[in-house]
Amino acid sequence: MKYFLDTEFIEDGKTIDLVSIGIVAEDGRELYLLNAFCNHDKANDWVQENVLKYLPKKHKVPHYIFTLPANLYGQYLSTGLIAKAVKDFCDPSEYGEPEFWGYYSDYDWVVFCQLFGTMMDLPLGFPMYCRDIKQLADSFANPNLPEQKTGEHNALEDARWNKQAYDHLSAIARKYL
Ligand SMILES: [Mg+2]
Repeated sequence: MKYFLDTEFIEDGKTIDLVSIGIVAEDGRELYLLNAFCNHDKANDWVQENVLKYLPKKHKVPHYIFTLPANLYGQYLSTGLIAKAVKDFCDPSEYGEPEFWGYYSDYDWVVFCQLFGTMMDLPLGFPMYCRDIKQLADSFANPNLPEQKTGEHNALEDARWNKQAYDHLSAIARKYL
């Protein structure tokens, strides 16, 4: 199963703190979750203006909530619960071997892995790397990609666009290969 992922995060050159994660599965399922304990005060002006301003309203999340809500759209959760949600969402025994795709995805992948702890703590059956749509585009001499009309820098909207871009490149590949 292919999963198209995007994250928003706050980074200072040493740490990466997850703000939000969006994942779109190739079968159409979607997940969009926000880190309830991300310190938004550490964001630079760009992140404040382009990311934080457009997030769903933050509600207070107690540390002692350990169960996942049924609805995985736009909820603020601890990173532990986000990890659990992602693990269930991409469960290899239910949906087949996962294949992750991002766009300029190196930082996304680090923050994704850190949900689970170290790289070695990734759930069983998850690959230890993310494929990059940018590299795929490079290998086709960088054709124009679809325009993203709305929601740029919203992790779910970006993840949806990643799927569109991937589908676009796959169509080109089918034509020429
Ligand atoms: Mg993004």
